[in-house]
Amino acid sequence: MIENLFIFISKPGFRVCYVCGREFGSQSLAIHEPQCLEKWRVENSKLPEELRRPLPRKPQVDIPTVSDSVCACASVG
Ligand SMILES: [Zn+2]
Repeated sequence: MIENLFIFISKPGFRVCYVCGREFGSQSLAIHEPQCLEKWRVENSKLPEELRRPLPRKPQVDIPTVSDSVCACASVG
């Protein structure tokens, strides 16, 4: 049961698109993300100016290596 819960919380190899929030395999996400962002920009540009949203920013929580994770924590903010 604990094993299942762990898989549910963090699916290995799956990552969430920061633009649309959907899950993709890391390979698929690399392809999807630029396309999704471009689509988002097109859709957003069609909106009236008052409804436009700021461009979603890529979160700085990429799979950290051991050395990177120290730097990432220190550089937040
Ligand atoms: Zn997406």
